[in-house]
Amino acid sequence: MKRYTCIVCPKSCEIEVSWSSAGDLEVNGNGCQRGREWITNEIRDPKRTIASSVIVEGGEREIVSVRLSSPIPRAMIFPVMDEIRKASVSAPVTAGDVIIENVLSTGADVIATSSVLAKED
Ligand code: SF4
Repeated sequence: MKRYTCIVCPKSCEIEVSWSSAGDLEVNGNGCQRGREWITNEIRDPKRTIASSVIVEGGEREIVSVRLSSPIPRAMIFPVMDEIRKASVSAPVTAGDVIIENVLSTGADVIATSSVLAKED
């Protein structure tokens, strides 16, 4: 059996997870169905999101903050971080711009979360 603290709401239920002899997931201690869904996804298909930054060429600032448009499988975090590290964008950048579309076929876009004006000569 393993214990997890549910992060879905401030109640922070301690959820106990084990497997039956038939291989079924058994969940106890969750205060609601959302907690059951969260822990089931966490165990069967854990997903995470990323906030990082991308190099800006010709901008008033050298980097722009970015995030993913949706969570991705945990196993893809490091490969996607590598893609973000290799990326660059030309100024101007507007918050909401898609910097990398469908990064590594995860279905998530890398999106600018701030704006960077072009550098004046
Ligand atoms: S199991 Fe339900 S009530 Fe408990 S912390 Fe998670 S979301 Fe909140």
